[in-house]
Amino acid sequence: MTVSRRTFITRHVSCACHLALAASAMPLVARRAWAAESLGTMVAKEDFATLQKISDGVWALVSTPLTGNRTTLSNGGIIAGRDGVLAIEGFQTPEGARWLADKAKELTGRWPTHVALTHYHSDHANGVGAYFADGHHPVVRATARTRDLALERNTTPPDPSRAPAVNGAVLLAADAPTTLDLGGRVVRLIPRGGHTESDVSIELDDPSIVFCGDLVWNNMFPNFVDTVPTQMISSVRALKRAKNTIYVSGHGPLAQPADIDRYLAMHEEVEKLARKSHAAGISAVDAAKTFVLPESVGPWGLSNPANTVVFHQRALEAWYKELKA
Ligand SMILES: [Zn+2]
Repeated sequence: MTVSRRTFITRHVSCACHLALAASAMPLVARRAWAAESLGTMVAKEDFATLQKISDGVWALVSTPLTGNRTTLSNGGIIAGRDGVLAIEGFQTPEGARWLADKAKELTGRWPTHVALTHYHSDHANGVGAYFADGHHPVVRATARTRDLALERNTTPPDPSRAPAVNGAVLLAADAPTTLDLGGRVVRLIPRGGHTESDVSIELDDPSIVFCGDLVWNNMFPNFVDTVPTQMISSVRALKRAKNTIYVSGHGPLAQPADIDRYLAMHEEVEKLARKSHAAGISAVDAAKTFVLPESVGPWGLSNPANTVVFHQRALEAWYKELKA
């Protein structure tokens, strides 16, 4: 059976697939910029990711999947305190999570004692079982909804260590921040939503650093597959701080306040189009065909018209769903 590109995209809606398509659409110069741009000090580099020190005891893993190596696809990181080490995200593959755990050991002297999942998407959670290698028993933290969705939907490729790791998660409150004291380092895990039904941002106050999960994408048009747009935008506004802050986006390079502003401005353009087209009775498919983001919001990682239309269409469909309700 031949599967049209459109059907393929509709069926394979994970962020992983989204990234593969975006990569094919991203001009070479943008791919290079993604890999090179850095707000931190590079401490490790592989084909699939760099690890950047962004403060004492805080490192960001910035995936560079546009190289074609998909060991990790999402960003994540390490936060270390005197008594514990938190690994952020389970990544696309066990090899990716294992790499981060090994780096934690090298850099801090200990294997992750805690693991936090920002949401259920497979590119953030699939490899989580690898943190339990060699008899290690970190505490996995996730919301109940993230745990349930990960168990239900992240089933391929098979990995016998995945389900027990997810199933054993210590649940985060869905209605209030959870504080994790790693010893001289207090981390807040804040329940939010909009990219999926349940998202969590992982935040430090001093230094001011926010691991945003997929609520924030930088330089790449986001995947709206599970998105409730108004909720997502209010989550982004809520996590944005008045003071200078490093934002570890879910995908793309590390972000500064100006990047968050540009991201919100891009969303405003999408919202404007969605409201106008919806009111005029124009289908999301037709509206997406002619939509071009204004140059003022900068590049959003999609130049191939075929893929751009699909991503924009998915965004408009998410908006239409909300506007209809
Ligand atoms: Zn996601």
